[in-house]
Amino acid sequence: MTQVYNFSAGPSMLPSLVLKQIQQELLEYGNSKASVMEISHRGADFLELAHKSERDLRDLLSIPDNYKVLFLQGGASAQFSMVPINLLRGKSKASYANTGQWSVKAIAEAKRYCEVSLCTDSSANNFTDIQDFDDWNIDPDAAYLHYTPNETIVGLEFDYIPDVEMPLVADMSSTILSREIDVSKYGVIYAGAQKNIGPSGLTIIIVREDLIGEVISGQPKLFDYSTYSNNESMFNTPATFPWYAAGRVFEWLKDLGGLSAIQKINHTKAQTLYQAIDNSNFYSNPVSIKYRSWMNVPFLLADDSLNNLFLERSKEAGLLALKGHKSVGGMRASIYNAMPQEGVDALVNFMHDFERDFG
Ligand SMILES: *Cc1c(COP(=O)(O)O)cnc(C)c1O
Repeated sequence: MTQVYNFSAGPSMLPSLVLKQIQQELLEYGNSKASVMEISHRGADFLELAHKSERDLRDLLSIPDNYKVLFLQGGASAQFSMVPINLLRGKSKASYANTGQWSVKAIAEAKRYCEVSLCTDSSANNFTDIQDFDDWNIDPDAAYLHYTPNETIVGLEFDYIPDVEMPLVADMSSTILSREIDVSKYGVIYAGAQKNIGPSGLTIIIVREDLIGEVISGQPKLFDYSTYSNNESMFNTPATFPWYAAGRVFEWLKDLGGLSAIQKINHTKAQTLYQAIDNSNFYSNPVSIKYRSWMNVPFLLADDSLNNLFLERSKEAGLLALKGHKSVGGMRASIYNAMPQEGVDALVNFMHDFERDFG
């Protein structure tokens, strides 16, 4: 197979070392004489894997002891409902930062359960900027504040953690494990696996213990965090294969030197690509420089009619899935943890040649 680099926004590329390891152990997991896909989640082999993956994730993120780690299904989208169901805790209001398309979806779902007050709203600038935190309007009666640290579609990423008294909730689907964070600042962190963790089908929740157990009555049992925290995420059958694969990704990340190491790599990758965009008159990115995403880099071509040619030629060059989201247009390069610097260098070289030939 020739070298390809996959810039898909999600499900996205996995580290090639991890894919090879999965291939090697796919038919027979450890001493179980069966595939990891075929063994009971309650058996010793799977339990050991489950415990190790949680320990590794706790190490990577330095998760304090008073936080539970849950391995759920339903994607980040299920959390759009689980968060209000579990966190309203008798209150009737929640505060949401509206900084992009994923915020919009979280807000729409929260409105089914409570009054939503927007503490900040970037819709007027097409989600290309974030209002100064000092100017946010946070309703003190809100049960919690929800925000999206990295907006995957527009490529808008916070470079700070909002400092609030109420529980802070973050949809970290497209930024978790990409840089160091202080988990103790959060009430709940959630992330669908298919960007920076592993295959789709798994959602990871990191939740402060004291926020578990007081849910809106009449809601499904599977939407109550305590259902999982009381049963080691095995009240019912978890997504065993993605869980296993996520464990292998955590090991890969630890071997690489953990979050301080990947943070440096990710920073350099993003710098390389934004510099190439900014140094050309042909490519552009509209996001406020301070809040440009390290993970998702949308860019427009000066001439829209060249988009299809760009996509064709880039695919031929082994650079996959660069088509931008339909709401933004142009291109988007997602450069999650699994994307090596060489992949970004190859993209930048291709962009340079394309501009020379057609720009
Ligand atoms: C991809 C993504 C989602 C949606 O995740 P699903 O697992 O498909 O529900 C939600 N929020 C953000 C920030 C995302 O990047």
